[in-house]
Amino acid sequence: MKLHIRGHHLLCLKGFQGYGYDENFVKNMTEVNNMRKLSKTTISLTDSPDDICTSCPNLKNGLCENTTQNDRIVSMDREVLKKLDSSREYDSVELFEKIDEIFKTKESVSEICFNCLWHEKCLFYQNLINYR
Ligand code: SF4
Repeated sequence: MKLHIRGHHLLCLKGFQGYGYDENFVKNMTEVNNMRKLSKTTISLTDSPDDICTSCPNLKNGLCENTTQNDRIVSMDREVLKKLDSSREYDSVELFEKIDEIFKTKESVSEICFNCLWHEKCLFYQNLINYR
């Protein structure tokens, strides 16, 4: 199985607890989150709509909501992608281990997660705030 994932969604997947924009979004996000944990899954990286965005009600004409919001989202993606190599395909389990190594302090995600609507529901962000 191959997944196509935008940069900041690597962090969202780590923090996912079943919340989302609607039922269809949550169902798809749950499936992607299960798939990314399988040993045979590979991931290619992007800063554009991915396998999570395809089921999102906010995706309009290939943009996340509008140009202003889309620019903000793309800059979050690029903050993550600059620590990785988007030209290659990653083994999913190894990629998420790498994410744990790179993003292990609150400061390391401040440019990415601080303004996110979901940070109070995000297990990944809450763990960084509370336990590290
Ligand atoms: S369209 Fe926007 S809000 Fe929806 S999943 Fe993609 S990045 Fe997130």
